[in-house]
Amino acid sequence: MRFRTLKQLTEVCASEGLTIAEVMLADQSQESGKPPEYVFEKMRAYYQIMKEAVAKGLTEDTTSRSGLTGKDAQRVASYMTTTEASLGEEACKAMAYALAVSEVNASMGRIIATPTAGSCGIIPGVFISSQQRFGWDDDHIVKGLLSAGAIGYVIANNSFVSGAEGGCQAEVGSAIGMAAGALVELRGGTPEQAMHAVGLALKNTLGLICDPVGGLVEIPCIVRNGFGAVNAMAAADMALAGVRSVIPSDEVVQVMYEVGTAMPEKHRETAKGGLAQTPTGQQIMKELNLGKKQR
Ligand code: SF4
Repeated sequence: MRFRTLKQLTEVCASEGLTIAEVMLADQSQESGKPPEYVFEKMRAYYQIMKEAVAKGLTEDTTSRSGLTGKDAQRVASYMTTTEASLGEEACKAMAYALAVSEVNASMGRIIATPTAGSCGIIPGVFISSQQRFGWDDDHIVKGLLSAGAIGYVIANNSFVSGAEGGCQAEVGSAIGMAAGALVELRGGTPEQAMHAVGLALKNTLGLICDPVGGLVEIPCIVRNGFGAVNAMAAADMALAGVRSVIPSDEVVQVMYEVGTAMPEKHRETAKGGLAQTPTGQQIMKELNLGKKQR
């Protein structure tokens, strides 16, 4: 790869006159030893799986094995048809789609980890709703996935992308940053604007702990994906409007690392703190251990 930081990524884009997606495609192809067409088609196949997951989450029973979660995407989708959503239709749709994919994950369906299974709803939520809204073809979206991959590559190499290592800021936060930066490029923004979107997005999730109730990737994970899709769109809009991340995005990534490293173990996917240890969280854990069907 010709870049290890977001700054280097924008420098390569500028010096070669390429988009983030084009840099990623070329570098990924070189690194894997596969032709660019192969890498592109692989991404296209991933996108199909994302679309299938959204469709499944909106139409099938997504009740999880624990019985704790399921069908919230359908609740939001149905609400949108009868009520004017406070968010507006488009953001609400992105939220519903993100919930759908996360619920498919929780009910053991097929998803693409972006960057992890816990945060798998955010990129599909933003991309699929945006594709429908702006009429983009799949090729355009695949470029977005490449841009998101480049951003995720930098975050993973300089910080973390897993809740067990750095808390939910690393998982859901990274996905929001990836989706935000990629959405900027998909909408015609510059690589610099995309990087500002990443920084703006990451700042908003710094310190977010990983506290899954019962140790299951359900509560609060699924709703955090719904919120994440909306936050990614907000960060992309701010960046496209000219809002800058005054603290450079690479420095924000470093802060994520610093905060994640300092985070107590109980807030890093152990279910020993946070929401998992509330009275209700403990009660749920007890019932799960007894093998009782949940509410
Ligand atoms: S709370 Fe933990 S398990 Fe759930 S999405 Fe966040 S990082 Fe993943």
